[in-house]
Amino acid sequence: MSVARGWQFFMHPGPTNIPHRVLQAMQRPAVDFTGPEFVALRDRSLERLKGVLKTRQGFVIAYAASGHGAWDASIANLFSPGDKVLVCQAGFFSENWAATARQYGLEVEVVAAPDRRAIDPNAVAERLAADTAHTIKAVLLVQNETATGIRHPVAEVRAAMNRVRHPALYLVDTISSLASYDFRMDEWGVDLVVGGSQKGLMMPPGMSFTAINARAWEASQKARNPRRYWDWRGMVEGGRQVRFCGTAPIPYFYGLEAALDMIEEEGLENVFARHRRLAQATRACVRAWSHGGGPEIYSLDPEAASDSLTAVLTPAGHDADRVRAIAAERYSVALGRGLGALQGRVFRIGHMGDLNKPMLLGALGAIELALAEAGMPHARGGVEAAMDALRAPVAVRKAAIAA
Ligand SMILES: *Cc1c(COP(=O)(O)O)cnc(C)c1O
Repeated sequence: MSVARGWQFFMHPGPTNIPHRVLQAMQRPAVDFTGPEFVALRDRSLERLKGVLKTRQGFVIAYAASGHGAWDASIANLFSPGDKVLVCQAGFFSENWAATARQYGLEVEVVAAPDRRAIDPNAVAERLAADTAHTIKAVLLVQNETATGIRHPVAEVRAAMNRVRHPALYLVDTISSLASYDFRMDEWGVDLVVGGSQKGLMMPPGMSFTAINARAWEASQKARNPRRYWDWRGMVEGGRQVRFCGTAPIPYFYGLEAALDMIEEEGLENVFARHRRLAQATRACVRAWSHGGGPEIYSLDPEAASDSLTAVLTPAGHDADRVRAIAAERYSVALGRGLGALQGRVFRIGHMGDLNKPMLLGALGAIELALAEAGMPHARGGVEAAMDALRAPVAVRKAAIAA
């Protein structure tokens, strides 16, 4: 067993690197979670999180839970057994949110994304237009499908819902996009947002949240699903969270405050630009490798390729996990694995959170070495292409249309 010296390059698309500042903020003695210091911290942090979500109308409810907990909270609070929801199915995470809904006795209809592409808003509109009796209670969309590295069109799906005048609620999972690229709860007409701590927010796993607006709150008052831990009615007073089900996740709030300080100091739009630039460099690198039958970017549509991670599809007959194992064991570079149907076919390079250019270049160089050592076909020069992309101006993303 060799000893790994130097930095470990953690390039997972969640959890992500935790800045020392966040770790240090969390490392402190317990305080009374009903006392004035914590209550002020809680109120302030939940209020500031609204800035990242771009909402003034909604409010945030936090949980001591992984992202799966916030999924549970969204389904438990909004619906009754037998309610129908339309899930925009586009990979492992949207499938699992749908599974949560089924477990609560909901009827799940699916509109599937075309293979290796983003959800088509027109397909959503078509499905809703056919539902003249308005039996579909909500549309569920994952903004950034972390299994495929494809971003899905949040504003455009809302526009499609409006076009056919369908009253369904709109639920969006932003766990792996929040604080990495643009999300606008109010402007895009999102009624409930699911978020988590361990991705763009740079914290450890274990805190998640839902942001809800007045329509979602109203729905929760009529919903009949069983709920205890997730029950908003026990946590919310006067349109804000004042309680947890049990002890508050105290250290997470200190960590959240440090993370929000860091995001604010950099500026949210600059955080987005940094992610876009790192993503462009990663994609340029993978495109270079792809020549001559090498691994390729999973997303077939460059516009839909995620700014927070790149899923890399390896050539048929080659094992993506072999590359991951070599990168981890010989080069201390940890990569995400292929999930669900993509296991062994895909490795995922996370480029979100607390990351800079040399960290990315170091990781890409090591992956290029690992490709060769795994005997996987690829063209060389990926890192060179990434460097060229870092020299180029940051491309402006096509602006999402207003809802
Ligand atoms: C990571 C992730 C989740 C699940 O979060 P956990 O904290 O692992 O439960 C849900 N949705 C998306 C889009 C994610 O990336």
